[in-house]
Amino acid sequence: MEKALNEQYVKELYSAYLYLSMSKDMKREGFTGYASWLKVQHDEELEHAFKISDYIEDREGVTEFGAIDAVTQHFDCPCQVSEAALKHEEFISDSIRSLFKQARAEGDLETEVFLQWYITEQVEEEANAHEIVDGFKATEDDKAAFFSFDQSLKAVSYTHLRAHETSAHL
Ligand code: MG
Repeated sequence: MEKALNEQYVKELYSAYLYLSMSKDMKREGFTGYASWLKVQHDEELEHAFKISDYIEDREGVTEFGAIDAVTQHFDCPCQVSEAALKHEEFISDSIRSLFKQARAEGDLETEVFLQWYITEQVEEEANAHEIVDGFKATEDDKAAFFSFDQSLKAVSYTHLRAHETSAHL
C-alpha cells in the first residue's frame, strides 16, 4: 500500500506540473482567465500530493521521490487544453479507484477512509473539467463569447482561491 501511495504522490506532483505548463501556454496565447484557473489547479495538486506524503508519514512510512514525467506537449487553444485536462482527471480518478480497491482488498481501513476524500475530490475535478470543455465548445464560433468565457474563469478562480485561503486559516 505504501508503494502505491508513493506512486500516487508522484502522479499528483505530475498533475501540478502539467497544469502549470498548461497555464503558461494559455497565458502566452492571451487566455488569462483560463491561465489563472489552471494556476489555481497547480496549487491544489501540490496540496493533494502533500496530503498523501503527510499520510504516509503519519503511518510510519517513508515518502519516496520517484521521477516525475516531463511535460512535452504545448497547446495554443483552450479547447485542446480543456479536453486534455478532462482526460487527465479521468486518469487520476481511475488511479484513485485502484488505490481504494487495493486498500479494501488488504483490509487497510485507515487508508480506505483516507482515500474517500480523494474520491469525492475527483467527482468535483471531473465536473469542473467537463464544465470548462462545454463552455469553450459552446462559444468557439463566437470570438467575443469565447474570450468572455475565458475571462469568467478568472473570476471563478479568484473566488475559489479566496475560499481556499479562508478555509486554510480556519
Ligand atoms: Mg489531484
